[in-house]
Amino acid sequence: MRILSAPLTAKDAPKLVVPTLFISSSDYDLMLIYAQTASPQEVNGYGLIDQGARDQFILCPGGLFITDQVVTQVSAKPTAVGNAYAGNRADEAGMTLGLQWHSHGRGGAYHSPTDMNTAHNYGRVGTIDWMIWVVINDRGDVVARLEQYAPIRIGVPMTVIVVPDNHQQLLEQVTDDIARHVRVETPPIPSKALAATPAFVSPDKKENTK
Ligand SMILES: [Zn+2]
Repeated sequence: MRILSAPLTAKDAPKLVVPTLFISSSDYDLMLIYAQTASPQEVNGYGLIDQGARDQFILCPGGLFITDQVVTQVSAKPTAVGNAYAGNRADEAGMTLGLQWHSHGRGGAYHSPTDMNTAHNYGRVGTIDWMIWVVINDRGDVVARLEQYAPIRIGVPMTVIVVPDNHQQLLEQVTDDIARHVRVETPPIPSKALAATPAFVSPDKKENTK
């Protein structure tokens, strides 16, 4: 499991739950290849999302795609047809069109003021409750934000985790392996470790104990 970005930790804010986006290796690779091939131009695409737990969003394996669009080195805008196609594709799959991504070519992976505006204005249409906005660059850096539009408007950075394609199978296999081969040892408490060290016994005393 590769954690690509973890912009927040809950350490200092115990009540705060940072939403996580899970992406399979092959979908991450695909997004990266799109970004690299289009670079230095940008490229824009979509993703079909499954929501696991409330704070867990899973990019459906194979659910990453691009549509017709017009791009420059600093923008990537889907055409009306491209946008409609994305909606139809989600409907046909019975999935949520819950993610939009675009590349920044050779630039940094971050949400620019323009990106934030796009995300904000998207919610004004009023037809969706939330959308995940992802930015990737041609070096594979990734950031994601969850923008919620209803019932209240709030946006937070997400943790992005890339999981192997056969995640479940690997998880079971590795859990077995660890159970079989790895023994957990409680680390010795320093004072006890000292007590366990054989004390120096003088030869005289050794004689006496006999
Ligand atoms: Zn951007």
